[in-house]
Amino acid sequence: MQSFSALRSGLRRAAVRVAGSALDLVLPRSCASCGTETSGPGLACPECFAKLRRIIAPCCDRCGVPLAAEAFAGKTGLCARCEISPPAWDQARAAFVYDDASRNLILPLKYADRTELAAGLGGMMIQAGADLLARADLIVPVPVHWRRRVARRYNQAALLARVISRRSGRPALMDALCRPHATQKLALAAPGERLRIMTDAIRVSSRRRNDVCGQHILLIDDVLTTGATGTACTEALRGAGAASVLILAAARTEVSGREDIDLPDEIRRQIRGSV
Ligand SMILES: [Zn+2]
Ligand SMILES: [Zn+2]
Repeated sequence: MQSFSALRSGLRRAAVRVAGSALDLVLPRSCASCGTETSGPGLACPECFAKLRRIIAPCCDRCGVPLAAEAFAGKTGLCARCEISPPAWDQARAAFVYDDASRNLILPLKYADRTELAAGLGGMMIQAGADLLARADLIVPVPVHWRRRVARRYNQAALLARVISRRSGRPALMDALCRPHATQKLALAAPGERLRIMTDAIRVSSRRRNDVCGQHILLIDDVLTTGATGTACTEALRGAGAASVLILAAARTEVSGREDIDLPDEIRRQIRGSV
């Protein structure tokens, strides 16, 4: 009996090894930003990795925007914007500043099927959001409308949430939030328009209301720009009784509450042409 179970676990290990090598053959081992060969799938080459601007202290305690120095934070540890008008959510953190370098890794995950990038980005998000993860009961991804998910075959925020949940051991509820209506692409909308587009665009799934009630939720998204999506998700979760809403993103704009990056025409065409 013992030898049978040893044989079975040996076979399982061999199957995992074969599946792993098959995956290595299938997934591109090239930098999504510049195309240079990398040592494994889902990684940026060392040159492109060095260009990423990681967000480290000091940053605003509330919205996670990087601050040039502690002196720029008010007495409360908040940026000027959060002191005047704090966001709907309790706290947000991001791994990188959203600029040309991080955009070159995030947009291929979002629009070009480079799903293997979720592993590397998810790992960096765990480091950036360690404090938030420690307080979270439940990980929830920002949802996409079902038609967009069917056409793209995945939701990039859900891929990141799955990586973060698996590696951190925190449970994830992938279908807690839903988008009952299709909305226009926020990446192409003017910053002032985004809040209007997102009003009432996100709901807590009726069968999940009890699961989120009283829980500290860690919301996962790829990019935090104006915060319109985060606000819509927060309002929906609070409406269902969530105790707090924390946001962890792969990247965020350097200035809180603003689409801080002017997308080149080529990127705009790519986004417009995507589903
Ligand atoms: Zn590269
Ligand atoms: Zn702030």
